[in-house]
Amino acid sequence: QAACPRACQVPRYVRVNTLKTCVDDVIDFFKRQGYSYLGKAASVEELRALSGKKFLLDLHLPELLVFPPETDFHDNLLYTSGHIILQDKASCLPAFLLSPAAGSHVIDACAAPGNKTSHLAAILKNKGQIFAFDVDTKRLATMNTMLMRAGVTGFQLAQQDFLTVDPRDPKYSKVTYILLDPSCSGSGMVNRVPREEAAPSAERLQALAGFQRKVLSHALSFPALQRLVYSTCSLHREENEDVVHAVLQEWGSAFRLVNAFPSWPCRGLAAFSGAESCLRASPADTLTHGFFVAVLERHGKGTAAPS
Ligand code: SAM
Repeated sequence: QAACPRACQVPRYVRVNTLKTCVDDVIDFFKRQGYSYLGKAASVEELRALSGKKFLLDLHLPELLVFPPETDFHDNLLYTSGHIILQDKASCLPAFLLSPAAGSHVIDACAAPGNKTSHLAAILKNKGQIFAFDVDTKRLATMNTMLMRAGVTGFQLAQQDFLTVDPRDPKYSKVTYILLDPSCSGSGMVNRVPREEAAPSAERLQALAGFQRKVLSHALSFPALQRLVYSTCSLHREENEDVVHAVLQEWGSAFRLVNAFPSWPCRGLAAFSGAESCLRASPADTLTHGFFVAVLERHGKGTAAPS
């Protein structure tokens, strides 16, 4: 197995950065560049059938355009000017499902290189406050450039271990939303080395899961938190359903798992009762990288959620 053949099946997804432009203007731009717009896709099969200079609007996400897998826009003016973000569809799910109301205070706990932060800012319409943390200096530098290019304002970027961020600090007293996308094995990334070589050892999985449980539990301890999205690009149940299950049990009835995005076709593995409320994504089923998302809400305090 040379280059992973599954990478060839995943389309080029283009998220329109609504802080700088709108879907109609981007569609017009690509039409002027010689692409044919086929309208909104009705099925994943339509995405799979894309070829040549044709593109569609995604069937699930409103600001996502879909091009054939081989399309490269890294030199395109819309990309270099921050009008579009080249982001896999599955990686657009966390911010979309967190869906913070404009004006909210939001934490992006493990944020770099920042694609999900810029998506959160677009959903917030740059109104509110994003506190973004990461430990990796190099990734934070890339993130800073990316957020500037995307026109993101109202964010505080800190090089800090999220586990050392004090939930009782008055600065975070209005944080009602948290996006938690922690380090994981990356076993869902299709353009990595062949999967059998990349398979993490049992010890590594255990260490990752231990960190993920710790960081998820820490996130739930922010006093005003209402809604949290936990995501990984891992295929391993140990980093996904098992983490969510263990932390929900630890917190008793304080938080519940939300039945996220009911129309999404691929659900959590049956690791515990209710795990089907979680979302999974894969090249075969959703034409995306492998991904996992869980949405948690404080019990008894509903917020509006995408259907
Ligand atoms: N959310 C990012 C995005 O969409 O661009 C990707 C995040 S990546 C999966 C995980 C990140 O967590 C890495 O950048 C890593 O440096 C960071 N990280 C790992 N441990 C951390 C910690 N204790 N506190 C904050 N960030 C951490």
